[in-house]
Formats: sequence, C-alpha cells, structure tokens
Amino acid sequence: SWSSDSSDSVISTDSCASLFRVVLIGEDGVGKSALAGIFTGAQDSMDSDCDLSGEDTYEQTLTVDGECATIILLDTWDTQDRGSWSQEQCMQVGDAYLIVYSITDRSSFERASELRIQLRRARQMEDIPIILVGNKSDLVRCREVSVAEGRACAVVFDCKFIETSAAVQHNVREMFEGIVRQVRLRRDSKEA
Ligand code: GDP
Ligand code: MG
Repeated sequence: SWSSDSSDSVISTDSCASLFRVVLIGEDGVGKSALAGIFTGAQDSMDSDCDLSGEDTYEQTLTVDGECATIILLDTWDTQDRGSWSQEQCMQVGDAYLIVYSITDRSSFERASELRIQLRRARQMEDIPIILVGNKSDLVRCREVSVAEGRACAVVFDCKFIETSAAVQHNVREMFEGIVRQVRLRRDSKEA
C-alpha cells in the first residue's frame, strides 16, 4: 500500500541491525492509528475507527538511502490518561517521536506544542529526534492551521515538520523516512 514514486526506498522483512523505537503522540482523533496502519500496510486502516486487533506496537524494516532501519512503532498514547504513568512511560521509551496534530483542529495543534514542552522536560539532557506532523492535509476546506503556522512552530521547537494525509497516503512514507534520517544524523554526529 506504499505507493512508490521514488525507488530508493523499499520495505523489506529482512532483519536489520539498526533498530529504534518511534512513538506516536498527539490528541485523540488526529490520525495516529491511521498513520500506524499505513506503516504496517493494513489495507483497511481507514475503514475502521478501532485498532485492528487491539495491537498497538508495530515493526517494519525500511531501506532509506540504501541503508536499512527497523522501526518499532508505538501507538500507545492514551489521552484519557493525561499526566499518567503510561504517558510518562511513552515520554521515556522513545528513541524518536512523531507529534501529530490535525490541520483541521486548532486545539490539537496547541496540544502538540504542549507535548513538545512536556517531552523536552521529560528528556532534558537528550537531543531527541522529533517531527511535528500536521495530518489530514486532504481536508483542505476544513483547514484551521496553515502550513506556515506548522512550519513556524517546528522552528520554535527545533524539530522537523511535515504535513501528511493518512486518508490519501500523502507524505506518510516520507514521514517515516524523515524520522530514520533524523535518528541517523544524531548517531553520525555522535560517532564523529
Ligand atoms: P487517533 O485517535 O489519533 O489514533 O486517530 P485515528 O487514526 O483513530 O483517526 C481518527 C479519525 O480521523 C478516523 O475517523 C480516521 O478515519 C480519520 N482520519 C485519520 N487520518 C486522516 C486523514 O489523513 N484524512 C482524513 N480525511 N481523515 C483521517
Ligand atoms: Mg488511535
């Protein structure tokens, strides 16, 4: 289900030495599970509002820039439980984060900023790869957050930015490639 328009990136099931945890966080309803569903190649992720089998941890190996990386994707963020132990766990276990909001919901965008601050507080001494993700870019008529605002927010919070649509599968692969590259940039600068 990954519509391929560039050939340097493919998904394989081969095992891979480079492995890291990516955590999806963001307000309820912004599309975290839909994005996770595309990651796993689930065909019906957009047709069901509930998680496919109650499963919320996914694993995929991707080849990005000719090098493989295995992502363990956690879709375990529980917004019913604000400030709880499980949210705190999510803030601790990730090697990288996708902070998701919906471009059709300004309050989810504001929540994303709060989450960025919360994450910085939880992991003070670390330079954690983060992408701010504005999902539902297909819903152009319902847009409440402009691209410029999203980008400006990412500059302030010193992270990457991308707009995606899980519904039409736009930029979803690019988002996962982006997080792999962010992890590598930090790894490479540590090794240097
Ligand atoms: P979560 O609570 O963050 O996991 O959000 P879900 O993945 O459950 O999605 C919430 C609702 O938004 C569902 O009805 C999805 O079908 C819908 N949705 C998710 N992503 C998109 C998108 O990119 N575009 C549109 N139009 N709807 C989406
Ligand atoms: Mg969900």
